Amino acid sequence: MHHKITIEPFRIKAVEQIKLSTREARQQYLRQAAYNPFLLKSEQVIIDLLTDSGTSAMSAAQWSALMRGDESYAGAKSWERLEAVIKDLTGFPYILPTHQGRAAEHLLYTRLGGPGKIFISNTHFDTTRANIEYSGAQAIDIPIAEARRPDHIHPFKGNIDTLKLGQLIEQHGAQSIGAVILTVTNNSGGGQPVSMANAREVSRICRQHGVRFILDACRIAENAYFIKHREPGYEDKSYRAIAQEMFRLADGCIMSAKKDGLVNIGGFLALNELELALQCRTVLIITEGYATYGGLSGRDMEAMAVGLEEVFDPDYLHYRIASTAYLGNKLYELGVPIVRPVGGHAVYVDAQACYPHIPPAQYPGQALACNLYIEGGIRCCEIGSVMFGKYDESGKLIPAPMELVRLAIPRRVYTQSHIDYVIATFAELMQHREAARGLRITYEPPFLRHFTARFEPL
Ligand SMILES: *Cc1c(COP(=O)(O)O)cnc(C)c1O
Repeated sequence: MHHKITIEPFRIKAVEQIKLSTREARQQYLRQAAYNPFLLKSEQVIIDLLTDSGTSAMSAAQWSALMRGDESYAGAKSWERLEAVIKDLTGFPYILPTHQGRAAEHLLYTRLGGPGKIFISNTHFDTTRANIEYSGAQAIDIPIAEARRPDHIHPFKGNIDTLKLGQLIEQHGAQSIGAVILTVTNNSGGGQPVSMANAREVSRICRQHGVRFILDACRIAENAYFIKHREPGYEDKSYRAIAQEMFRLADGCIMSAKKDGLVNIGGFLALNELELALQCRTVLIITEGYATYGGLSGRDMEAMAVGLEEVFDPDYLHYRIASTAYLGNKLYELGVPIVRPVGGHAVYVDAQACYPHIPPAQYPGQALACNLYIEGGIRCCEIGSVMFGKYDESGKLIPAPMELVRLAIPRRVYTQSHIDYVIATFAELMQHREAARGLRITYEPPFLRHFTARFEPL
């Protein structure tokens, strides 16, 4: 391998056209989308960094596996294949297929949640928090203190504060804890990895108190990369072996295969408790589909079985993490304030530091997302007070801890010249950052408001 330049370790077999647009056209598109990039049409976007979820390019091996799809209602060969891959990877005996991660969350957290229940996590992802709160339970985030400091370098900034974890369990009583959820990598916390030592300590605390430990394993392969390269004792282990070791510390996991499963749709719930698995399976059959397909087609399950193995390929993982770091490091050199070190699947820009003159109540992250679109046709996602803000009794905004904008990198989709274009667009934006203005919300739904809220520039 040549060490100076990390190339994309694939050739392109099929291409998808990108529609280019003018700045004037984009201004109009954004106005029509009520200044919410989620409401744009994809053909109005040049580089789509809204999410890395379900946006992966499948490999030739995955496309050919689709033809093998067994579409039988029950006991399909494709299910056997997928179940075997997941069992071998996770070590859990009870596997429930779902159409995506949040369906697995819904099955599990409605069973474990309800009024009076508490869930504790390094950071609950937005759909995780929504599913928990929707059940009437409470979701508490306790990342380590370093995680709240965007420019502070720490090798495992995704770690949970294990001291607080023990205190919280004792304070609330083990019987009121629905689960402790470790999100790897920590998506909302900057795509930052969790160390094996931290997962081991969580496991120990949970076992000591008799509390359930669930892994949100959406990016377990990317997390394994960081462990191998940053945590002593893992240099010689394979990425897959590292992931297997982490799964075996937990009592179960949920996974959105739209991330490290390298597929466009799919997910699963895996558990080691028969009784709980049976309860979840009943709801699965009522809401998702029969227990051997759970809302997926046979071909989806085939692609997922292949993707869950491909993702641990060392050349792929090296390119994946190196290409995300390339974007982050170039932005940092330009003076763009970013969360450091750069995480696995995305670069998080500190919008508050970028636009210090825009207060949280005027949503600096949303303003940056809008300006990136107008300047370069780049779509990205606010992860700040639009996504996580709450209101107090007087209707005043309680801001999120950080005002971030996430540039999520779809897997195997964009080449380095696309990323260089994103960097050039930022260089342009940084020239006139003082002129940027905030926004106000004109419509919002009660849950997950960032998806459908409407805005107006101030
Ligand atoms: C994407 C994601 C989910 C939800 O999965 P979907 O497939 O989008 O429903 C849950 N947790 C984390 C950490 C995620 O990134």
